[in-house]
Amino acid sequence: MATVTSSYDYVVCGSGSAGGVVAARLSEDDNISVLLLEAGPSDLDWPSTHIPAKAASLQRTDIDWNYKCEPQVNGYKALEACFWPRGKVLGGCSSNNFMCFTRCSSVDYDSWAQAGCTGWSWKELLPYFLKTENCKCPKLVGSKFHNTGGPLTIKHRGNQLSDAFIDAGVELGFKQVDVNSGDIIGFGDFPMTIDEDGKRTSVARTYIHPAMERSNLTVLCNAVVTKVNIEDKKVVGVSFRTKEGDKFVKVNKEAIVSGGAVNSPQILMLSGIGPKEHLREIGIDCIADLPVGKNLQDHLNMIVKVSVKEGTEIHTDEYCATGTNPKEGVAFFKTGLEELKTEAPDIQIVHLLGEIPSGPVTSAHVYKDPKFFPLENYDNTSEERMRKIGFSLFICLLHPKSIGEVKLRSNDPLDPPIINPNYLDDPYDVKALIEGIRFAKRVTETKAMASFECKFHCMKIPDGTHDEWSGEHLEQVIRHYARTVYHPTSTCKMAATEDKTAVVDPQLRVLGIQGLRVVDASIMPNVPSGNTNAPAIMIGEKGADLIKIGRQE
Ligand SMILES: Cc1cc2nc3c(=O)[nH]c(=O)nc-3n(C[C@H](O)[C@H](O)[C@H](O)COP(=O)(O)OP(=O)(O)OC[C@H]3O[C@@H](n4cnc5c(N)ncnc54)[C@H](O)[C@@H]3O)c2cc1C
Repeated sequence: MATVTSSYDYVVCGSGSAGGVVAARLSEDDNISVLLLEAGPSDLDWPSTHIPAKAASLQRTDIDWNYKCEPQVNGYKALEACFWPRGKVLGGCSSNNFMCFTRCSSVDYDSWAQAGCTGWSWKELLPYFLKTENCKCPKLVGSKFHNTGGPLTIKHRGNQLSDAFIDAGVELGFKQVDVNSGDIIGFGDFPMTIDEDGKRTSVARTYIHPAMERSNLTVLCNAVVTKVNIEDKKVVGVSFRTKEGDKFVKVNKEAIVSGGAVNSPQILMLSGIGPKEHLREIGIDCIADLPVGKNLQDHLNMIVKVSVKEGTEIHTDEYCATGTNPKEGVAFFKTGLEELKTEAPDIQIVHLLGEIPSGPVTSAHVYKDPKFFPLENYDNTSEERMRKIGFSLFICLLHPKSIGEVKLRSNDPLDPPIINPNYLDDPYDVKALIEGIRFAKRVTETKAMASFECKFHCMKIPDGTHDEWSGEHLEQVIRHYARTVYHPTSTCKMAATEDKTAVVDPQLRVLGIQGLRVVDASIMPNVPSGNTNAPAIMIGEKGADLIKIGRQE
């Protein structure tokens, strides 16, 4: 265990996609001292975090916070109160996620900037995205949107089915796109955070471990932050709990909260920063009355399975042998529904060879009742099953209008917070997912895919009476089976200081408190148009720079 001294210039609370980057970048200056506190163990104690094909098996283990969201009134009808995996390990969710790498749409960031988040336009953020990246995708190296000198190796490799998926998009009139160029409406290859020897490139492996060689960075695992200590509206220290008991460390310059979209609001509220009324109910004195925990947004996802002609070579044997992750193609499109008020795409379709393990043991699919169990003999891991399925399509709602909330259950820091994503509350969310399912079916019916003889299997509702492709039936399918794709954001919202919805300003400083920032996915004003790991890592890079600039002022 690392030796912790009594004070540090910076204390970073949480070592995930953003916090790990902040700690690594701040410690580049050897005149300052940095303490990184992580609630979970080191990734080195969990070698399976390095093996891409083991990703799903990391859920519901000791390196998962094992959260569940509240029972959903409008969704999850076939599923138990939803299991919400969150990484609790060095590297956070970058150590247990599914490694898809997209920066999302330039429109997302430009709309943040237009709403008052000065400095957060796509053009201003691109250098930070580039700084993270070591691109090993042959088709992309040399492009102005890619870099080969950063810590995070990105790799892609295609196969005949994902190539056909992209050709199908072109046949339907879409562009073939680089999904990291900001201009993403179309079909393209899906790069992954996997290095050349087939290992996951988590923030733990690529940022934190190399930085741990510096004597000015201390990393303490199995240390749960219980509170940021504040006196006269100024941070004085951080309290945390280890196996040996409660500890306190003094902060000389700043505390940085990087616990992610569930735990950052929890830490702030435990420290007296949050909605006054809610803190009063819980018995916590309110130091700053801010809308912490509000504005929870998440991507909801429908998985459909597509079986292909017997004998189609889909190389899942190779994927299983090398332990890589067979996601290779992705599409972004706009439904055109008038409720959508952005030029960004509102549906993402991820093409995944075989079937993601989604049975009762490994993942978030926990069915309330065996009658909802859609396919018999459900052996997720077998090669035979993967061949039978062919591929899965993940149809993801990118800009949900249903907004949820994270609240404290009690003032006990170890009590899991109340998570209510409020899925499918807004009718647009259902309509957009219906459009997504119908569009995905059209993709499988193209000439480009004809030789595979695709058969599209949408989930069934037991005793359902409607025509399978009617809006009524698809709505029921969505309300029964759609579930999180693990992208919660926006619970410590960044906005202009005068904006009543702001928790942090565009420098990521918590309003009204000196010496405190939040740096992670919780600051995103809105969930962006795609997977959230690359944006969270970018936020870590930009956040570290903002802290460095703050020091010089
Ligand atoms: C199963 C899964 C699959 C995903 N798949 C993808 C994908 O394929 N592609 C993609 O782009 N995104 C994916 N995501 C989402 C993406 O990984 C996250 O959005 C991103 O990692 C969030 O980064 P963060 O820094 O905000 O938080 P996190 O990475 O969650 O980091 C928070 C860290 O803080 C620690 N922490 C929390 N509370 C405390 C405390 N009180 N004291 C000390 N430490 C604390 C946590 O243990 C954790 O290490 C996935 C997420 C999950 C869970």
